[in-house]
Amino acid sequence: MGACGIQLYQENVSYDQNFIDKIDSTVKNTIEQYQLFNKDDKILVAVSGGKDSTVLVHILKSLGYSFECVTVDAHIGCYTEQNLLNIRKMCASVNVKLHEIPFREVFGASLCYIRDTLNENGLNLKSCTVCGVLRRSLLNKRAREVGATKLVMGHNLDDAAQAFMMNLLKNKNNLSARMGVTTGVVKNSLLVTRVKPLYLVAEKDIVDYSKMMDFPVYYGKCPCSTEGFRNHIKDLLNELEKVHHNVKENIVNYFLKKMPLLQEKCKGDMINNFCIQCGEVTTGELCRPCSLLQDFKRFTQPIQFSAAQEAPSAELNIS
Ligand code: SF4
Ligand SMILES: [Zn+2]
Repeated sequence: MGACGIQLYQENVSYDQNFIDKIDSTVKNTIEQYQLFNKDDKILVAVSGGKDSTVLVHILKSLGYSFECVTVDAHIGCYTEQNLLNIRKMCASVNVKLHEIPFREVFGASLCYIRDTLNENGLNLKSCTVCGVLRRSLLNKRAREVGATKLVMGHNLDDAAQAFMMNLLKNKNNLSARMGVTTGVVKNSLLVTRVKPLYLVAEKDIVDYSKMMDFPVYYGKCPCSTEGFRNHIKDLLNELEKVHHNVKENIVNYFLKKMPLLQEKCKGDMINNFCIQCGEVTTGELCRPCSLLQDFKRFTQPIQFSAAQEAPSAELNIS
């Protein structure tokens, strides 16, 4: 039993050394083939406590890399409480420093409070949108602060296939041009290059790996997950995969082949400016995090009463 009585039970998957070796070597080859980083890099690994980042930490350690970890706590109740306990345990067991960035310390509020405040004032934003925008910005800033040359993410093959299909079906090719095993198509010293060593490892294999190794991982879903369209695509690809093997792998390989062309085509869309408020890289005048936080602050400002106005009495007159 975990935080707030969360059920941590997981079914056993019998240990298979060949399988473990195969995944380890896929990750090793991805790092080498795409030159994601080398032992001279200062590596910061973004972790959540979930299966992907936990497996990633273990594999990087076994490949002999030195690195530190960073986690953003959005305070999503028992879910993030449990994940935080798990990732602390994992980092301690492999002797890796963990940087924790709690939403409440940075923004004075949890993700749920920020999202509700924005939505009660008519913004209609999904949890994952708010979470993703703020999280990405915090991770990039912390990576810069610690002098990291690479920010390592736990995205897997399923994430990559889903993201490409979502952009394709929404006709947002310019977003796909920013994806890939490594980011950095927008060259700017303010943006730490993000790299994805699990890019060619399927989600089901990561789950099996994690269970075989008996890692401290909670396999349940985030209760705030609102990625309706992504979930649709995920279900669709899983269904297809049952009949046509390697569908996801084929999508990702197709994307990787077309990526240079796509980047060339979308070059014009990637011109970056600097946010007039915080100075971070953005495509418009104000970056997304500043715009969200500005609204959040505006909506949480206490109402000011002018001298001419009288504040309403706190007492109720019940006659
Ligand atoms: S599922 Fe969405 S809300 Fe939950 S942690 Fe991930 S991005 Fe944040
Ligand atoms: Zn800004």
